[in-house]
Amino acid sequence: MSDPSLLITCPTVTDPGLAPPGHQLLYVLAPCPNLRTGRIDWEREADRYRDSLVQTVEKRGLDGFGSAIVTERLTTPLDWSRRGMAFGTPFSVAHTLAQTGPFRPRNLVSAASNAVLAGCGTTPGVGLPTALVSGKLAAARITGRTASGGGTR
Ligand SMILES: Cc1cc2nc3c(=O)[nH]c(=O)nc-3n(C[C@H](O)[C@H](O)[C@H](O)COP(=O)(O)OP(=O)(O)OC[C@H]3O[C@@H](n4cnc5c(N)ncnc54)[C@H](O)[C@@H]3O)c2cc1C
Repeated sequence: MSDPSLLITCPTVTDPGLAPPGHQLLYVLAPCPNLRTGRIDWEREADRYRDSLVQTVEKRGLDGFGSAIVTERLTTPLDWSRRGMAFGTPFSVAHTLAQTGPFRPRNLVSAASNAVLAGCGTTPGVGLPTALVSGKLAAARITGRTASGGGTR
């Protein structure tokens, strides 16, 4: 991406023990396509993309970010794939509008009458709050109660 949205977090603000004294832990999450859609050779491109990300972070205000790095770890879709995630995506089905909320795969399994799904791959979608909601919806399926805790269906 030429102008990516980045998620940058600094967990040492609230947990200084995550880095040696006087240092910070910074985490940069950048969007990239899965291995099937993107067909990017990450063995070749990873370092280049890393460098361009560091430049982008600096341009957006974190002056001296690159030169301040003492130790780093880069994770690419290839790494996620090696950990067994389909097409190198830890996000399951992409969270586009057409695959979110009611449009995400249902939490019922068509081939089994006694299985209900929960997690980011089923309705309503990716993210910790949504994964928790999916658990609530799955529980409602099993108990017959509505997700809001009301009566039976
Ligand atoms: C890099 C990254 C950053 C993210 N940042 C945010 C964020 O800032 N805010 C946010 O809301 N969401 C964020 N998310 C999304 C969020 O983490 C996920 O949507 C959520 O964790 C999905 O929950 P889940 O229970 O479906 O799956 P997971 O949290 O992936 O849990 C699945 C569990 O099943 C285990 N497992 C897999 N296979 C087996 C097996 N065969 N047997 C037994 N256990 C197995 C796995 O080890 C794992 O512990 C982020 C995701 C990633 C990858």
